[in-house]
Amino acid sequence: MAIFACQPKQGRVLDKAHIGALRHWHREAAPRVKEAGFDIIYVYAGHGMTLAQQFMLPHLNTRSDEYGGSLENRVRLTRELLEDTRDAVGDTCAVAFRFGIDEMLGPDGMQAAEDGRAVVELLADLPDIWDVNVSDWANESATTRFQPQDRYQNDHLSYVKQVTDKPVVGVGRLTSPDVMQSMLRKGIVDLIGAARPSIAAPFIPRKIQEGCIDEIRECIGCNICAASDGSGIPIRCTQNPTIGEEWRRGWHPERIARRGQATQTLAVGSGPAGLECAMQLARRGYEVTLAEGAMDFSGRVLRESRLPGLAAWRRVADYWLNDLRQRANVRMFAESTLDADQVSELGIEHVFLATGAAWRADGVGRNSRRSPPLIELGADIRCNQTLGRIAPTA
Ligand code: SF4
Repeated sequence: MAIFACQPKQGRVLDKAHIGALRHWHREAAPRVKEAGFDIIYVYAGHGMTLAQQFMLPHLNTRSDEYGGSLENRVRLTRELLEDTRDAVGDTCAVAFRFGIDEMLGPDGMQAAEDGRAVVELLADLPDIWDVNVSDWANESATTRFQPQDRYQNDHLSYVKQVTDKPVVGVGRLTSPDVMQSMLRKGIVDLIGAARPSIAAPFIPRKIQEGCIDEIRECIGCNICAASDGSGIPIRCTQNPTIGEEWRRGWHPERIARRGQATQTLAVGSGPAGLECAMQLARRGYEVTLAEGAMDFSGRVLRESRLPGLAAWRRVADYWLNDLRQRANVRMFAESTLDADQVSELGIEHVFLATGAAWRADGVGRNSRRSPPLIELGADIRCNQTLGRIAPTA
């Protein structure tokens, strides 16, 4: 049922037979979800991408039958899907309802204080769990560049608990245990939802429970995970280099093997790769020397975090530096450029070079297998004819 807005789409009005088929498929899917081992089944009306939500929105739903017009009519399909799901699984699974309570379009869309609230009142105790967020996806999963505040959804969902007796779960790039606790204490939600925070730190509930707050890799809201998800490639995360491999072949990223016979290691370069390398070596019990040529540690992270709107990216380096600086078996040296002879003279058995990579400058890539011709524009610059790039002459 999901409709992604990447390409232009053609649509048609659903007749009653189509709606009946949709309900039938939904009802048939529910027991399969249960059989697959899930305890909670969602009816989804969020992110601006499901029929249940689109039926609710008057700017999309122009029907004149019992599914269009009044809000009661526009909510009818959602009500039916909730009831169908309940009928299909009885009380063996919880039926959750995700609802995009505010489209963030002002009077041009659904607003939490008006139609949004009316929907919650209409369906109040029908779902077992309310999962409320803002819509569409770009608003709900906003990047820190455009939405630096982690509690940005609270104003829109804070009344839901007053309208329903069922538990309410909320999201919003919640990475801080203090913020989570505050939302629970204030009665804004009963449960914290954490999708991106769990990508950056898959074991976040256990770390909070055990008080290992410093070990939480904090999501920086860069949405690289979503970009890889949308590209059909394995998920990636700026904070967590082992995302998606938590249980691969019996290997576990936080079960650290002890070191071998060697004791001394050297990591050259303190960008993301060098810092992660140094941290993992230290955790294994090696004596670690980290050498950085620049004045400050962190490499490209430092440079990128100084760009407008990207201050949160600094947290990537903060996580490693905070860890490394507390370890007695790590020595860190800035302004310490090493050439091959100097590395060799140190006599350290295991050396890791993490000095970075550079983009190709010859124009060869996916769409251009040969270096495109260059034209001279003057004494100091030349222009790549094909790509229109301007580069200093060598
Ligand atoms: S890539 Fe990682 S750090 Fe970036 S938004 Fe996704 S989970 Fe957060």
